[in-house]
Amino acid sequence: MTEQELETYKSKLQQLSQEYLAQIQDLEDINREETADLLEESGDSGDEAAVLYSENTYASQIQTLHELRILVEAALQRINAGAYGQCLDCGHAIDLRRLAAIPYAQYCLQDQAKHE
Ligand SMILES: [Zn+2]
Repeated sequence: MTEQELETYKSKLQQLSQEYLAQIQDLEDINREETADLLEESGDSGDEAAVLYSENTYASQIQTLHELRILVEAALQRINAGAYGQCLDCGHAIDLRRLAAIPYAQYCLQDQAKHE
């Protein structure tokens, strides 16, 4: 992989990381507002089931985004360590088409199957 290609992946990953962070913050804001609204509406009767449902819906989306962000950050660290694009299992170069689609890919296609 050339220096230039590496830079392209790096900026792609940095952009992804910021996008995920922005999405997490948006969801956390919406979650807070909706939870506050529900608590207000339910008043003393306390419709807690509705509140819990709303929190869970966002919680799983937020969790997924956090996990993706961790993968992106790990890929950025591999760029800094000079190990980007190498499969964590077999050490071979990950197919460039795969990296183009999933810049934070950790494994080659063959090894990815073992981790799913
Ligand atoms: Zn592999």
